[in-house]
Amino acid sequence: MSERPEFEAVGHCGGRVTIRVLTDERGRRGYQVTWSHCRPVPAVMFCVWALPSGIPFCLAELGGIGSPVKVPPVPGGVFQVFVSSDSEGLFGRCCPACNGYWRASVRDPQFCPYCGVSAPTLNFLTPGQVSYVAQFCAKMREVLESDVDGEHVIDMDAVADAAGRETEKPPFYYAEESQQNRFTCAECGEVNDILGRFGYCSVCSTWNGLQELTEKVVPGLRARINSGGPHESYVRDAVSEFDSLVGGYVVELVRRVGMSSARKNRLSKRTFQNLKSAVADLREAMDIDLLEGISVDDMEFAGLMFHRRHVYEHKGGVVDEKYIADSGDKSVRLGQALHESAESAHRIVNLIVRMARNLHRGFHEIVPPNEEAIRFHKRLSNRAGSSGGAGAG
Ligand SMILES: [Zn+2]
Ligand SMILES: [Zn+2]
Repeated sequence: MSERPEFEAVGHCGGRVTIRVLTDERGRRGYQVTWSHCRPVPAVMFCVWALPSGIPFCLAELGGIGSPVKVPPVPGGVFQVFVSSDSEGLFGRCCPACNGYWRASVRDPQFCPYCGVSAPTLNFLTPGQVSYVAQFCAKMREVLESDVDGEHVIDMDAVADAAGRETEKPPFYYAEESQQNRFTCAECGEVNDILGRFGYCSVCSTWNGLQELTEKVVPGLRARINSGGPHESYVRDAVSEFDSLVGGYVVELVRRVGMSSARKNRLSKRTFQNLKSAVADLREAMDIDLLEGISVDDMEFAGLMFHRRHVYEHKGGVVDEKYIADSGDKSVRLGQALHESAESAHRIVNLIVRMARNLHRGFHEIVPPNEEAIRFHKRLSNRAGSSGGAGAG
């Protein structure tokens, strides 16, 4: 989880949008829109083409400085509208299919992190952004319909200042909201800020489960193991983390892959008290082999730790008849308190990472990520890296 506050209003990045209307010597009226920014916060923006009635209909391609802007041929004309990021350099997004809200570092994410739906990026505008575009177009109509030339300034600094305050909001107001898990996708390098823990990267549609495990959970577990015992709770937590990680992948498989309801049931109800049967279910239903490359000895050890997790969680760590019957553990006697060592705790952590990698690979063979987006954004971040930039994001 990110350590920044959750669900806090994140103000607009601010700036000033200036609409300059002028009439040339032949009496033809024209206008120019410019955007300036001088607040000490990140600010990025994208541009949309909108109908004068205020409906955005396509993303505007901004060429380099000096290159001509291609205006789409629409009867009645179109307006170009700048939509800026929040003060953390992220854009709010809203899914048209599940209504989920998140923030992303790019102007054109194509996937919902929650339901995985793929859509043209304009479909992911938030209601706040859509309302801003409509208000901007109304302002454009107003200044163009008046006979007076001149400059009209939209003060987005006032919009930025109003975020999170209990004051009346200024015109053009919209703000974003911090979510719960802000992560930089390990595959494409772009930033997502999502509700909950697990989700797809909205840029390349890689599921973040493996990344959450390896970058956040495992370092924490290793530090706790190294800080000393008792080690039983670390084994319990490692297996629990693996269980919830697998749960995330399975929910997505069940939701996105066509299968019979019997198969859905079996997958959804799998329990990791018994590693062998859960492994068999995933192999049989999805052809995903959690144990690929894992020795029989390691598999037996992992199976034992999965049984023990149940004892630590529900039996106070004391061996009961069911544990002995299910696990076949001959090294302990009925009523004995189980103990773990730093070595066994590290070993199970290693094994859950290896099984998670197998699961992640198998999952994305079935639900492929957007390889083109991964290549494109990697190239961008390599370029930024080689020119001394801070990388993508
Ligand atoms: Zn969605
Ligand atoms: Zn990504």
